[in-house]
Amino acid sequence: MGRLIQSVRSRLHSVELRGIHIPHNKATAELPTVLMPLPSQVILPMHMHVGAACTPQVKRRAHVDVGTLVGHSDARMSADIFSPVSGTVKEIRSLHYSHGKADEALVIVPDGEQTVDESVRPPEVSDYVSLVEAVRHSGIVGLGGAGFPTWLKMDSDLSNIDCWLVNGAECEPYLSSDYREMVEKPDDILRALTTCLDLSGVPRAQICIENNKPKAIELLRVKAAASDPRIEVFELPARYPQGASRVILRNVTGRSVPRGGHLTDVGALLFNVTTMGEIGRFLQTGMPLTKRRITVMGDAIERPQNLEVFIGTPIGEILEFCGLRSEPRKVVIGGPMMGITQVELDAPLTRATSGLLAFTNELVDSPKTTACIRCGACIDNCPIRLAPIDIQKAYQRRDVGALDRLMADLCVECGSCSYVCPAKQPLAQSTRFARAFLRAEQRKAKGRG
Ligand code: SF4
Ligand code: SF4
Repeated sequence: MGRLIQSVRSRLHSVELRGIHIPHNKATAELPTVLMPLPSQVILPMHMHVGAACTPQVKRRAHVDVGTLVGHSDARMSADIFSPVSGTVKEIRSLHYSHGKADEALVIVPDGEQTVDESVRPPEVSDYVSLVEAVRHSGIVGLGGAGFPTWLKMDSDLSNIDCWLVNGAECEPYLSSDYREMVEKPDDILRALTTCLDLSGVPRAQICIENNKPKAIELLRVKAAASDPRIEVFELPARYPQGASRVILRNVTGRSVPRGGHLTDVGALLFNVTTMGEIGRFLQTGMPLTKRRITVMGDAIERPQNLEVFIGTPIGEILEFCGLRSEPRKVVIGGPMMGITQVELDAPLTRATSGLLAFTNELVDSPKTTACIRCGACIDNCPIRLAPIDIQKAYQRRDVGALDRLMADLCVECGSCSYVCPAKQPLAQSTRFARAFLRAEQRKAKGRG
């Protein structure tokens, strides 16, 4: 195993990060976004972001307007929550998830008026500190699925940052919500970028888009050239998982993030393209994050489309609006490669959700697993150049030393290894568990576990 580890280590730093070709299935890409009508109620979990959960700021039976602050935490790593509707707080209850955890959640019944809270007005921004502070109170989190508070990422030490990267890769099959952002709202993206560059002093920005989205590339290239020469469009090959942060960084800048480090350690910041568009809209209107675009697709869906949905809308109401051909056997939040299976259809749409997929067909059936034939395909196709089969074996032995040497913590959970494995080994699942296990053991060793 020693030789294999050495070879993986050297390739990690010397070979261009690669990816796999998978069918894109983006049939919704050219359909304009449709605004979904008001739902019967919105359910707002107080923990729909990375960081500390918010505490409800309103009581049962309180009246709220669109944009009223309803959830807040004093913790630095958190993101405020705002009402997407005007109406009445029906209840504050526990929301249980299939993985066993529970959140406090506000249930608000819309009154249909959509009156806007008087606190909603464009923020006064004069320098980078005030920009970050404004975004802090916008409720904006990473909209590509990460859910990381955007203001906190902006609040990094910018002294060595020379590149503001925007992730428009959207490499997961089926999803086209970021693509619709680029073709429908290019001015919002560019407004946000110009403001960020002006106030941060970062010299340039690159909007990174896969070359299977020529319309978005052309539109943003022409508009950026006309409005701000510091903004470029960078064309990427359409390979999965082009949008993973380490992969996009390497393929755009040639830089690698040191193990245990962050993009800022190598001079870059990376934001999802819809997140930038949302910042642009917030700067102009002051309306915090209350709605978002999602792709609704899958063979169970009657009318696949991109929808603008009020955050907190029950998933069952979204599926009903799009129509069902037949009862779905599997509903997935996010994309098919990295998404999470959703069991409860009365669960709400949360801020970081970019896709809702419903399937009836053979995609749902678990493939039969056979013995590894040592073909090496999982290693050859891992974008980080890890050895998933060896990580799986080391995890089965709970061998912390081997997992550390195999750098299991660098796995980006893209699922490429499982996708290419002819033996249908559950490699992505094992590497995900292995990564969590290794991190927990490392924390324990440092006395923080
Ligand atoms: S899930 Fe992890 S191990 Fe598997 S291909 Fe992706 S990065 Fe590599
Ligand atoms: S791709 Fe599958 S069969 Fe091939 S080496 Fe990896 S685990 Fe074994």
